[in-house]
Amino acid sequence: MTSTDTITLPATPETAKGKPAKAHIARASDVTEAYVMGTEITALCGYKWVPSRDPAGLPVCPDCKAMALQMSGGLPE
Ligand SMILES: [Zn+2]
Repeated sequence: MTSTDTITLPATPETAKGKPAKAHIARASDVTEAYVMGTEITALCGYKWVPSRDPAGLPVCPDCKAMALQMSGGLPE
């Protein structure tokens, strides 16, 4: 973990469109609300989706990774 409150999550809908699923990174506070309320969250790169799965094994979105590095100097684990 880093000192910042970002978290890595999967974006599931893209697989249905023939794109590989990616794990996007979002703010942990937004993620908690999305899980509780079932609302969309916005990833650091601007991608919006409703998180529902564990991101294990998915490649992390390079745009989110770049944003996380800019924000915190590190990546969430
Ligand atoms: Zn992303």
